[in-house]
Amino acid sequence: MTRPTPPSAYPASVVQDAPAPIDDAVWRALERAGIPASVDARQRAEHGRDWWPLSLADANRGVVARWPGVVVSPRSTAEVRETILIASRHGVAVTAQGGRSGVEGGAVAPTGGIALDLTGLNRVTACDVVSGTVTVEAGVFGPDLERTVNAEGFTVGHFPQSFELSTVGGWLACRGAGQYSNRYGKIEDLVRSLTVVLASGDVVPVGDRGPRHATGPDLVQLFVGSEGTLGVITEATLVMRPRPEFERRVALAFPSFDEGMDACRVIVQRDAHPAVLRLYDEIESLRTFEVDACVLTVLDEGPAPFVDATIAVVESATAGAQRLDDALVGRWLKRRNDVSALSPLWDAGIVVDTIEVAGPWSVLTDLRTAVLASLRSLTPTLVASVHQSHAYVDGACLYFTFAGRPDGDPTPYYRAAWDVATTTALARGGSLSHHHGVGRNRARFMPDALGRSFDVLRAIKGVLDPTNLFNPGVLGLGGEPW
Ligand SMILES: Cc1cc2nc3c(=O)[nH]c(=O)nc-3n(C[C@H](O)[C@H](O)[C@H](O)COP(=O)(O)OP(=O)(O)OC[C@H]3O[C@@H](n4cnc5c(N)ncnc54)[C@H](O)[C@@H]3O)c2cc1C
Repeated sequence: MTRPTPPSAYPASVVQDAPAPIDDAVWRALERAGIPASVDARQRAEHGRDWWPLSLADANRGVVARWPGVVVSPRSTAEVRETILIASRHGVAVTAQGGRSGVEGGAVAPTGGIALDLTGLNRVTACDVVSGTVTVEAGVFGPDLERTVNAEGFTVGHFPQSFELSTVGGWLACRGAGQYSNRYGKIEDLVRSLTVVLASGDVVPVGDRGPRHATGPDLVQLFVGSEGTLGVITEATLVMRPRPEFERRVALAFPSFDEGMDACRVIVQRDAHPAVLRLYDEIESLRTFEVDACVLTVLDEGPAPFVDATIAVVESATAGAQRLDDALVGRWLKRRNDVSALSPLWDAGIVVDTIEVAGPWSVLTDLRTAVLASLRSLTPTLVASVHQSHAYVDGACLYFTFAGRPDGDPTPYYRAAWDVATTTALARGGSLSHHHGVGRNRARFMPDALGRSFDVLRAIKGVLDPTNLFNPGVLGLGGEPW
């Protein structure tokens, strides 16, 4: 399968400006250990970026902002360990990389560092069909995982929009969410155990004794969301569900976003959790569905009695809404992973990005209004819109999209947009991120977002990675983010 590539390509000439690769001593150590590695300039340029819009803008301008010194491609946990020991001996930073589909710059390997390409850890190692769990190496991509478990009659149910571009390790490292997560859960709900390689070179299995425990704090969750700053995840066990036998779809329109949000809240608070429950504002409804109102798309799957009961709750909670053609849900399904629209926008000098935050239901109206107003207050902004993408008993995720056409360098506008939107969301009780993570882009907001608990995270980093070997700057830990 060919995976979509980032929507901008470096010109061939970039290789002429490549700085010197990794120190000879590191290269020879990798060679002696027999671990595949490359200092090819084009490869290094590619591994110096991910899908972070600033990386894409750099590539568009033919600028390689960061040149990792070497791309190392281990094929096993043992080779990951050996690479980390070599890096530690030589004091070279290590950036774990999966599909490099992250949109916050977390997988951008710093200049001179090791880009640790984990996509060679690509095996599904065990499928326990009695317990309903699958054990998988970190570099396995979404379609390969699903194909394997589907053959056993199961699904993991984790379908991010970047399904084809991203790996299990990246999902876990970023606390990702699939588009069906209302039914199946976010990745932190699906994971049961991990194998992690620490900066010391220790290979540590965490959490491998069943579904729940009361054996101290949850160490699996310490590494989930750690974005490559605390350890390298090489293997994980995830739960699976039987493949769904039945599906139903509903499309509705509300006169206002607030009325749609009230309906979403009532649905989940009545304990109905349709796999998909997405509400779009007027701008996105018009753009995606050509409907001049706020569209709610609902899809549920699973055993027929559960699905019917869920849809019955949806119908009773939305009795006042206009029923649309349910085929609109199919239209969304068909286009949901299509990212081809991005490239022409970037080529036209338009900065586009998305900001996803979560908050309790009680603050979401105020938060949404204020964040949209803050983005629209910036002169280059052309459009700012929002949809609700994941709903919980106590709150939901709001997913903002903004686009602007700045003059010249896009960075000042990009930074200003993130500054106003993030400070506004945090001030109104929202979280820093719901599922894209923090990376480099949001690192500057971590002290505000976590308050005093950021000191706890820093202390943990200090113990597990005292020399800042792993991903310096990401999550606001151990270095300048960008
Ligand atoms: C078009 C598009 C749509 C997207 N849609 C969604 C979506 O619906 N839901 C969602 O959650 N995200 C989405 N994303 C964001 C991104 O795909 C996710 O964050 C994804 O989980 C990243 O996986 P990856 O394998 O590409 O990780 P990478 O981008 O390679 O890495 C991301 C971070 O994780 C760390 N990391 C990666 N692998 C490991 C490992 N094995 N051990 C330790 N650290 C590791 C990296 O160092 C980095 O900090 C989207 C991105 C794009 C481009």
